[in-house]
Amino acid sequence: MNYNALAELLYPNIKTTIDDLEKKYPERGLKENTEVTRFAPSPTGRMHLGNLYASFIPEVIARQTGGVFILRIEDTDQKRIIENGIELGLSDLEHYKYIIDEHPIKGGNYGPYVQTKRLDIYHTVAKYLVSIGKAYPCFCSEDDLTHMREIQEKRKDRIGYYGHYTKCRNLSYDEIKKRIDNNEKWVLRLKSNGDINKTIIFKDLIKGNIELPENDLDQVLVKSDGIPPYAFAHVCDDHYMRVTIVTRDDSYISSVPYHVELWNACGFKMPKFAHLLPLNIKDGDSIRKISKRKDPQAAAVFYHQKGVPVEAIKLYFATLMNSNFDEWYIQNPNKSYRDFEFSFSKMSKTGALFDLDKIINISKNYISRLSAKDVYNNLLNWSKEFDKDLERLIEKYKDYTIKTLNIEREQKKPRKDFSCYSEIKEYIWYMYNELFITPTYEWQAINDINQIKEILNDYINNYFKIEDDKDTWFYKMQVLSEKHGYAKNVKDYKENPNNYKGSIIDISMVIRVAITSKSMTPNLYEIMQLLGMEEIRRRINML
Ligand code: GLU
Ligand code: ZN
Repeated sequence: MNYNALAELLYPNIKTTIDDLEKKYPERGLKENTEVTRFAPSPTGRMHLGNLYASFIPEVIARQTGGVFILRIEDTDQKRIIENGIELGLSDLEHYKYIIDEHPIKGGNYGPYVQTKRLDIYHTVAKYLVSIGKAYPCFCSEDDLTHMREIQEKRKDRIGYYGHYTKCRNLSYDEIKKRIDNNEKWVLRLKSNGDINKTIIFKDLIKGNIELPENDLDQVLVKSDGIPPYAFAHVCDDHYMRVTIVTRDDSYISSVPYHVELWNACGFKMPKFAHLLPLNIKDGDSIRKISKRKDPQAAAVFYHQKGVPVEAIKLYFATLMNSNFDEWYIQNPNKSYRDFEFSFSKMSKTGALFDLDKIINISKNYISRLSAKDVYNNLLNWSKEFDKDLERLIEKYKDYTIKTLNIEREQKKPRKDFSCYSEIKEYIWYMYNELFITPTYEWQAINDINQIKEILNDYINNYFKIEDDKDTWFYKMQVLSEKHGYAKNVKDYKENPNNYKGSIIDISMVIRVAITSKSMTPNLYEIMQLLGMEEIRRRINML
């Protein structure tokens, strides 16, 4: 068989050669250990945490090695595509502040970055494989293949296009030409020389060495519409994008022998591979892969709407990726996860379990370390999108809001009550006069309104002065307590409970609830300082 003639017959319009492609997409000339990684989603729309985690890993590796991170869109499966899928996916990644060096909209020297725009590249490589006798056209129809499968089932043979079932493997040039001239449909198949009884050893960066049976199926490289399935496309793409580490879903492991055969057939040097275990979630008693459909808390927009800081989620990913990150971060609380050295070898071999409580916890700690000004700016950004009333309010009272947010912040043990920006309003609303209208008071031990009024009037007329410093303020509270029959400290009360109606705790609670309506607030002295005399009086008189 004259394979060159066959290649010309099958791909008459392809004039480029793989040498041309080598020149067009040269090696990147990066230093050793500098990694080129990519994230290669289908354009099926918004990202969920599983996608974001799967893109966090290659992004982090590219950044920490001074390499390149690529976003490539795998749109060869036309059924799964949605409109604007690329833009939506990209905007989610950008919201997470992933630094993407090359992507479909920005471009780059190794593009296009959308698979359906790369058909000439695939066909060039396909033509090359035909020309060296490693690929051939197959004219089997769906019916032929169904028929073959039925025979295989009846004979209890393995299913697939292999061995003596490869009907089209040895068609002559003349036969092929006749059928092509006849406009018969064909697909291009790999001429496998694998042996199912032999094994290959494959080195995975996470799992280590894996032994798998060789591939012996003549799988489809290019479909009759000219579009390649995933396997052949990824080989061409990762080679000509000069990717050095392929990170992808663990479900591809079983196809690795076929992929290895393809890389070798093309004569391309294989990159390193890291197969990622899915992010799992507990569902009743069982554990399953996280799903956009079943798990609303898996959608990226869920966190966006709640206003969980993107950095907190990335810190969570960092703890998932390398178990030693947690300890490092405790020792380096003011560093960025970017300063940590991630490695594939420290990744779990059993997969990660999604844990919403952990995200919340990380987020609380993260927000607690921000300056009041940063919290303010983040809150403002969040409210611009999700709470226009709050936006107006905190813009109107900018400095006041920053001071409010600074209560028990920017200190050694800062407050840790906010886990996300959507929660902040419920912690600070009472600081705004115009929102403090008909509050629900959370009275505690002292709940008789006459007694409450008596204490408050005494306090406001005879004790409280806005200019008092913290110690004086507290001292006066003690005097007020004793005057009304309450111990000036908890110790006195505990020693002689029968001598008192209660303790200073009950008295300060009355003031706290009268002024904020809440039984739990951060530092009451600071709250009162911010509210000011006039507003404190107004609130007391409201009762
Ligand atoms: N497009 C593939 C997917 O969404 C990605 C495979 C890869 O990363 O190589 O599963
Ligand atoms: Zn065939």
